[in-house]
Amino acid sequence: MTHPIEARPLEVRSDSPWSSSKRVYPSGKETNPMRCPACGAADLIHTTHDIPTDYRGVSAIISAVTCEFCPACGEAILDREQGDRYGRMVGQFRHQVDDQHPL
Ligand SMILES: [Zn+2]
Repeated sequence: MTHPIEARPLEVRSDSPWSSSKRVYPSGKETNPMRCPACGAADLIHTTHDIPTDYRGVSAIISAVTCEFCPACGEAILDREQGDRYGRMVGQFRHQVDDQHPL
C-alpha cells in the first residue's frame, strides 16, 4: 500500500538575508539627495552652474558645470568627471591669461 505524497507548495522563506527590507537604489541619476558635508544644514541639489573663476585679475566663467550644490552655504561639490573638466578649463584659461600677459 502506498501513501499519496502530500503536495506542498515550495516554501519561500521570508527571513533570508537577501529578502530583507534592504532597499535597492536604481543606478543612474535618481540617487538620494546627499546632506551637505560642509554645513550639514541642507540637502545638496543636483544642478548645473556657471562657476566664476579669476586668475591674475582676469575673470572668466566656466560654463555648465554639473555639481551638487548646497543652497544653505553655497558649497558646490563636483564629481570626478566634472572636476576633471573644470580643472582642465581653468588650466586652459590660465594658459590664455599667461599668453596674453607674459611676465
Ligand atoms: Zn552647505
